[in-house]
Amino acid sequence: MDITQYIRDIKDFPKEGVVFKDITPLLLSPTATRQVVKEFILMLKDQKIDKVVGMESRGFFFATLLAQELNAGFIPVRKPNKLPHTKIQEKYELEYGFDTLEMHSDAIAPGDKILIHDDVLATGGTAEAVCKLVERLGGEIVQLNFLMELGFLNGRNKLRSYDVRSLVTY
Ligand code: IMP
Repeated sequence: MDITQYIRDIKDFPKEGVVFKDITPLLLSPTATRQVVKEFILMLKDQKIDKVVGMESRGFFFATLLAQELNAGFIPVRKPNKLPHTKIQEKYELEYGFDTLEMHSDAIAPGDKILIHDDVLATGGTAEAVCKLVERLGGEIVQLNFLMELGFLNGRNKLRSYDVRSLVTY
């Protein structure tokens, strides 16, 4: 299946000069969504996963589906002040300024095998921060997977020590 049929370009969103990759057409198709989950599962080659970590908010869609399929738990990573319980946080650099991501401290037990999922790998800053959160709690990162990778931004360079997979590279 060619998933690019289900991803549309939105010009000048969220700001001028940016072409935003919109996955909502994909979410409208149960058949395409099921196929995407199947393809992600094949990439794991039967490796055991205890928990799937998804990034707020577009990462949640497929991370929860993958967690169900893998019989694993789902862990939300969220923007500041959204999670209600004791948490850890990582600050990371954006094009202009900084952002912070948080995870509940009791979400991961040392040695847990972790799959990290997000919709898009761009500069890699978000994924790198999530890797730090997981490893601070003793999680073992088995793989990071993305629906798409914006190859020209070289996000992979920040994630060299990990198994990084994407269904589509632009
Ligand atoms: P990075 O930290 O630069 O790799 O950016 C990745 C984060 O930004 C992910 O959480 C994505 O959801 C979001 N993102 C960046 N570009 C796009 C896009 O074109 N469409 C949807 N999300 C995007």
